[in-house]
Amino acid sequence: CGIIGYTGYTDARGKLIKGLKTLEYRGYDSAGIAVFNDTLNEVIVAKCEGRVERLDEKSKDIKGNTGIGHTRWATHGGVSDSNSHPHKFGNVTLVHNGIIENYASIKNQLGIAGKLKSQTDSEVVAALIDNYYHIGSDPSEAIIKAVREIKGTFALGIMFDDIPNVIYAVRNVSPIVCCVNDDGAYIASDITAIGEYSKEYFVLPELTIAEISKNGIEVRDFQDNKVDVKMLELDWDI
Ligand code: GLU
Repeated sequence: CGIIGYTGYTDARGKLIKGLKTLEYRGYDSAGIAVFNDTLNEVIVAKCEGRVERLDEKSKDIKGNTGIGHTRWATHGGVSDSNSHPHKFGNVTLVHNGIIENYASIKNQLGIAGKLKSQTDSEVVAALIDNYYHIGSDPSEAIIKAVREIKGTFALGIMFDDIPNVIYAVRNVSPIVCCVNDDGAYIASDITAIGEYSKEYFVLPELTIAEISKNGIEVRDFQDNKVDVKMLELDWDI
């Protein structure tokens, strides 16, 4: 129901937990974060059903400067630790807001029913992106190919195990806002979660892909053209 993401020069976990607490008002039944660990060289996930406070306790050891977080309002699959987001499949870890209507047919087409760890529609999207990534697409291409196939509403925050310190974001209907400051770059479902970091922000245009790194955020359309985003100004204090 809410997503948050940060990559930059400081520790991610605290910012993700804080952002998730701000998103609590949207309602949720579970929460989770994924952070890239430089020592292990992979994305580490901590997630559980219940409150963000519980996730905070469970995730104290997670260190790294890049991560995504999620509060879930279950639509597909019951409320459980394994159905909580982020979902990791192969190289791909993602958080998803929304509903993927054709997840069952994608699952059959990929023949992955036995490999899934959850009952969610969202994990199937991670598998689909991972599939395209493995057969040779670069990250953005893999995401675009997957997005062209899925039907429904979505805001996705995506990380790859072998592309440290980059987050990709894409959306259809479900919101994503973005901002940047000297500490790094931020994404969230709504501005209240990241408004303290910058007064300037933008709404990610639908069906464009954002590459979020500590040096900033680049937005491209599905034909790989750079998109000039419309900067907005926050006119109240958070
Ligand atoms: N459809 C997804 C699920 O049930 C995401 C729900 C949400 O937006 O929180 O896990």
